[in-house]
Amino acid sequence: MGFESFWSPRVRELVPYVPGEQPRIPNLVKLNTNENPYPPSPHVIAAIAEAARSGLQLYPDPESTLLREAVARYHGLDAGQVFPGNGSDEVLAHAFFAFFQHDRALLLPDVTYSFYRVYCRLYGIAVRLVPVDDRLQIDVASYAGQPAAGVVIANPNAPTGSAMPLAAIEQLLQSQPHCVVLVDEAYVDFGADSAIPLIARYPNLLVVHTLSKSRSLAGLRVGFAAGQRHLIEALERVKNSFNSYPLGRLAMAGAAAAYEDIVHFEQTRQAVIASREALAVQLWRLDFEVLPSGANFLFARHPDHDAKALAARLREHGILVRHFAQPRIDQFLRISVGTTAQCEALVEALRLLLALA
Ligand code: PMP
Repeated sequence: MGFESFWSPRVRELVPYVPGEQPRIPNLVKLNTNENPYPPSPHVIAAIAEAARSGLQLYPDPESTLLREAVARYHGLDAGQVFPGNGSDEVLAHAFFAFFQHDRALLLPDVTYSFYRVYCRLYGIAVRLVPVDDRLQIDVASYAGQPAAGVVIANPNAPTGSAMPLAAIEQLLQSQPHCVVLVDEAYVDFGADSAIPLIARYPNLLVVHTLSKSRSLAGLRVGFAAGQRHLIEALERVKNSFNSYPLGRLAMAGAAAAYEDIVHFEQTRQAVIASREALAVQLWRLDFEVLPSGANFLFARHPDHDAKALAARLREHGILVRHFAQPRIDQFLRISVGTTAQCEALVEALRLLLALA
């Protein structure tokens, strides 16, 4: 054995998540990581510049109080019901550690955000996969009546984009009252109803949000969990056993400002939704099957063209989309919704490639 002998046995067993590539290629049409094609609000930039001018020699507020208050105000919560973190990936990791390490298994859809299973391996959490149906939709009835360590659902789901109504989430919460039901709402602002208003009634509900998508702040790394106080307290215990200062001063200032500019949020959100609907029609005209999406991406497959090959050909044209070599979805492409110009470039390249092949 080589230098891997330095690794602890747990590290040898890890299967790390592989993020979509971020290559430094000029004029790239980057539709592979579900970033927002529009920049954040100018108020965010101003708040970050202001925060940079004073206090960087000091540690940030370990409780992220101002950010908690901004999020709480926006969502009608108490600041104590909000737990911010360094991207929602970190918040999710802490939640998996805090709530799902049990002798029972965690229930996950078989098609969902692949990072969930990475956390399970990291923390030794047993998983039971619950199949999505033939149309790749989550059927909440199939989560009922199984003793579980917890349930994790993304709404809208990734990478399918499928959104579930709040009634389905509520059914899930009622069918699993003895464990935490985590609803990851990374994409909720693009086409689903948030479960945050249910928090007051369900002590087992934890909702996770990110500022990477609808708030255009993927580069800042901010997300949060919302839930009743006892759940937030558990997350604080984990965080304070890991890193006192997960968010820097610039991240907190920028993130808080993002919640103040509602006009910018609405404009960019509506622009993305309009582009998504237009792109879905264009893809459909090129014979793609396109799943209905409530997210800032489309999940689509072509009856005559292998998805992996198509992604590789698009890359040669300077267009990145995401392909997952996973059972049930390996003939699909996940296409992030770009600006109108980016979507046009994609459709143009596809038209060419489909005609040539
Ligand atoms: N949840 C889902 C469903 C996602 O697709 C992503 C983005 N890859 C995240 C969480 C993580 O987002 P971030 O860490 O940027 O907040």
